Amino acid sequence: MSLMATLKRWFGGQGATPPTAPRQDRERPETIPETASTAATASQGVNTMSDISIHPAVDGGVQAGSDSFDGGTLHCHCTDRPVEVTVTAQCAHNHVCGCTRCWKPEGALFSMVAVVPRDSLRVTANEDKLEVVDTSAAIQRHACRECGVHMFGRIEKTDHPFHGLDFIHTELSDDTGWAAPAFAAFVSSIIESGANPDHMDRVRGRLKELGLEPYDCLSPPLMDAIATHTAKAKGVL
Ligand SMILES: [Zn+2]
Ligand SMILES: [Zn+2]
Repeated sequence: MSLMATLKRWFGGQGATPPTAPRQDRERPETIPETASTAATASQGVNTMSDISIHPAVDGGVQAGSDSFDGGTLHCHCTDRPVEVTVTAQCAHNHVCGCTRCWKPEGALFSMVAVVPRDSLRVTANEDKLEVVDTSAAIQRHACRECGVHMFGRIEKTDHPFHGLDFIHTELSDDTGWAAPAFAAFVSSIIESGANPDHMDRVRGRLKELGLEPYDCLSPPLMDAIATHTAKAKGVL
């Protein structure tokens, strides 16, 4: 199995493909929509690069994190009984992600997602509102069933290269100091959500302008970590 196929399997899980957007169709150009109804920010009125909304947390410039920061609380968007998650660690590998699975705020082209050690994460209020979005996916995304916000993603498969890490969205926290996003992953995948393929140069240009190096998979260190894990599993390393 190719690394990309392995990666897709790990991240997407089996049978998790939404029927309206077949993931296996990503390489068939005739399935790519001409215009983007769900990504209006990328398809309408784009005159300068700063008009492109990548994600609200970075559109005004990427805010640096704090070296002394060691965690905070995340809340879902409910005004009544919000789900609260407490993290007792700084996050790592924070990035914006263009995949179709990560939760993203309304109108954003990208999600913003980071990892923390799973031991450092606890649900501290209203856990009864959480449910797993897709139980067949490699990443079990625990979402609030009322507001739909994903509070954390957890990998239960012990042979997964990122087992032991939980995925979080630091924008759900009012605490400042979270490590800043440092790159953009799965950039081409925003087309699968309806972004206009003709605007990809501008999207990548804007990402570079923000200091978020665009990749069409994960960053090189993470790809290397996955390949190393795969090589060890196969016995070639
Ligand atoms: Zn909620
Ligand atoms: Zn993603």
